[in-house]
Amino acid sequence: MPSAIVFFGPPGSGKGTQASRLAASAGILQISTGDLLRGHVARGTALGAIAKPIMESGALVPDDLVTRMLKERLAGPDAKSGAIFDGYPRTVAQARSLETLLKETGGRVDNVLFIDVPDAILVDRLLKRATLEGRSDDTKETIAERLRVYREKTAPLADLYASAGVLVTIDGDRSVEAVAADVESAVARRRAVKA
Ligand code: AMP
Repeated sequence: MPSAIVFFGPPGSGKGTQASRLAASAGILQISTGDLLRGHVARGTALGAIAKPIMESGALVPDDLVTRMLKERLAGPDAKSGAIFDGYPRTVAQARSLETLLKETGGRVDNVLFIDVPDAILVDRLLKRATLEGRSDDTKETIAERLRVYREKTAPLADLYASAGVLVTIDGDRSVEAVAADVESAVARRRAVKA
């Protein structure tokens, strides 16, 4: 896997939207662990049965289960040329697992795009998404828990990736187009450095 791009940010930051846009414009596979897990829940798999109550509480599904699911997805033929990761890694342990998984195919994390949005705006956006998409984990209580879990478990990844020299922080409190333009230029800059 030559190229791995990670989107990371709090719930409601718009990372999923940005990951989809970049996947479409750059022709790179998007892998969203949230979507994969929702797929398992919808299909009623054993993993789905474990994940459903955890997702509804706003907590994280255990690292080993998510990493195993991701490993299976990366084994697909469409993942050979690279992927955009959306919602993974979410813990330092997952970041280490991702590194290991990528190493097996000669790949590495090229870009980590941190979509930064203030808390007050996130809550507002997530409540709107609850109405629009009917996601069962977008209730007021779950939103508070997801933000707390994000701060405790996921936010430390910013330091980790900053030390590795791959973190780009993007102001996510702007229009989808303005954020997308910064995402595109961050990826292009990185490609130019690599070339
Ligand atoms: P998302 O769609 O990325 O907001 O994910 C929705 C929910 O799925 C999260 O609140 C977690 O419960 C679970 N989830 C998604 N990705 C992960 C992950 N990488 N590790 C643990 N849990 C995850």
